[in-house]
Amino acid sequence: MGKNLELHKTAEELEARVKELEAKLALVGEVFRDGDLVYREGELRGYCSRCWDVEHKLVHVVAIDRGRGQGRGNGCPECKNFFWHGHATNPRMK
Ligand SMILES: [Zn+2]
Repeated sequence: MGKNLELHKTAEELEARVKELEAKLALVGEVFRDGDLVYREGELRGYCSRCWDVEHKLVHVVAIDRGRGQGRGNGCPECKNFFWHGHATNPRMK
């Protein structure tokens, strides 16, 4: 591969990385924590705090089966964490 082509490729990769980081930064300003969940301004449902902390992914907490006949609870479909408290709705939107 020629040097110019290599540099061009590197520049494109950096540009993509910058865009990705900018998108994450914008989210950090919008996301806040309440108890074990994180919320986003203007969004009613809470997100998994573990996925946000570890991976900076916003994964909605949903009603999923807890297994072993325990019925359904609020859980993260991505990391399978359960959040035992009842409400999973944005406290700023009450
Ligand atoms: Zn999760």
